[in-house]
Amino acid sequence: MAAIKQLQSFVGGKWVSGSGTPRPLYNPTTEEVIAETSTDGIDFQAALEYARSGGAALREMTFEQRGEMLGALAKAWHAHRDDLLQLSTDSGGNTRSDAKFDVDGATGTLAFYASLGKKLGARTFLADGEMVQLTRAPRYVGQHILVPRLGAAVHINAFNFPAWGMGEKLAVSFLAGMPVIVKPATSTAPLAAAMVEIAVDSGLLPAGALSFIAGPCGDLVDHMGFQDVLAFTGSADTGTLLRSKENIIRNSVRVNVEADSLNSAVLGPDAEHQSETYDMFLREVIKDMTQKAGQKCTAIRRIFVPEALLDTVLEDLGEQLGAMKTGNPNSKGVRIGPLSTASQLRDALAGIEKLKSCAEVVHGGERGELVDVPDGQGYFLSPTVLCAREPGTADAVHALEVFGPVATVMPYGDDVDELCSWIGRSEGGLVSSIYSDKKGFVQKMIMGIAPYHGRLTVGNERVAEHSPGPGSVLPSLVHGGPGRAGGGEELGGLRGLSLYMQRTAVQGSKPLLAKLLLD
Ligand code: NAP
Repeated sequence: MAAIKQLQSFVGGKWVSGSGTPRPLYNPTTEEVIAETSTDGIDFQAALEYARSGGAALREMTFEQRGEMLGALAKAWHAHRDDLLQLSTDSGGNTRSDAKFDVDGATGTLAFYASLGKKLGARTFLADGEMVQLTRAPRYVGQHILVPRLGAAVHINAFNFPAWGMGEKLAVSFLAGMPVIVKPATSTAPLAAAMVEIAVDSGLLPAGALSFIAGPCGDLVDHMGFQDVLAFTGSADTGTLLRSKENIIRNSVRVNVEADSLNSAVLGPDAEHQSETYDMFLREVIKDMTQKAGQKCTAIRRIFVPEALLDTVLEDLGEQLGAMKTGNPNSKGVRIGPLSTASQLRDALAGIEKLKSCAEVVHGGERGELVDVPDGQGYFLSPTVLCAREPGTADAVHALEVFGPVATVMPYGDDVDELCSWIGRSEGGLVSSIYSDKKGFVQKMIMGIAPYHGRLTVGNERVAEHSPGPGSVLPSLVHGGPGRAGGGEELGGLRGLSLYMQRTAVQGSKPLLAKLLLD
């Protein structure tokens, strides 16, 4: 058995261990302890103050230089790719393909923001929009600018994407010119810790630009002030707790929350069985249900299909999911690994029980047959399809996010407004997908459900070969959603930078402002 790794935090420019009894972290396939961590005794206020001091060097760098730094960091991570992928399997239960989704997603996002930095060039702040004439005199104008905030960005990430979740936030902060404290979810912290170690050892980052907390972050958030930024990904409950802290409200600390989501997939009324559009729908539903064992905030949880196709869809899903192997993510041919922790498995099983109040299980629902896993070992759940024949009264299906390979199929009739209202019952989501070639239907759906979402994907035969599926978050498009999804917005190309920058309107004489702000 490999040695148990003792995780350390990187605060105040040094690697430090916590003082308390370390918490064991498990391999979710074997249940072996692979690492331990403690953050007890760390002075989080001092850590925050030190991180803030790292901003000056970043702010002096131009966007181009910050972009070069991101590009070099992406390469440094990529150079350790094989080790990181294996660590992702050992610490998170990811198949190799799922591990790539997380690790390559991180490096890809850094590379994307590196290219934006290059385009922005030798500037240290951004002009926002055009100059506006403010009075009759053409010489008196106003110009909006975006300048880096002077504090530190605290990034609290969820357990399911220790690499991508860290990379996507870090890329945007660094390009904006803000130093970062990364706090991963404790249960899957080993991968994030390894990536931070590579970043620190690379010497690419200015002192203080990156700090890391390898576990619970104590009273860190309580010390945040008006120039700091809190970017959180995780459950709606934790998001609510953090954003309602007294100092966060009093100091108007900028907060971005990415939380729960009950994403929908809608098969259009025109999509005939086995047409390209139908096959695309089926492929994307299956990918989203099974990738990372369904532990994706963007995974499809609710599937709406025309009444006449309900049984056909259930049959096709059962057949295709039944042919996919669940088991040891190191074994050949295994497509679905375990859930990340024992408590995630407990929650998913309890969630399925609750869904049963209004839906029946038609496939899976239990551990299932596993490849290369001894009896009773590991946190496994086979892909599970439920069916709710009465969507209007299926309250639990519209309210409960079961964070595993679990989705519910529901029929709809001729009333598109009613369908949109069912989708809206989850009270805000990250992404939903519509599969149809019928323009009028697609238009009605986009207008009907866009207010509930941060992103929509429209699938049809013309893009069947090109779509990465709704579950892939793209750095050029916004990620976030209203209501239950947290009300936040990340990424979206340059849009993401504004979270870490102050928008300031500057009024004055046109030649002076043009010279100072636009040259
Ligand atoms: P969670 O329990 O809310 O934990 C999320 C993060 O918050 C972890 O790093 C956790 O640290 C930290 N945390 C918990 N309590 C805290 C506190 N009092 N102060 C400071 N930090 C605290 O959520 P989870 O169970 O790990 O994640 C699953 C949820 O995340 C799902 O509901 C999913 O929908 C959502 N999610 C959303 C997105 C998105 O982009 N919108 C992406 C992924 C996941 P510890 O681990 O140390 O407790």
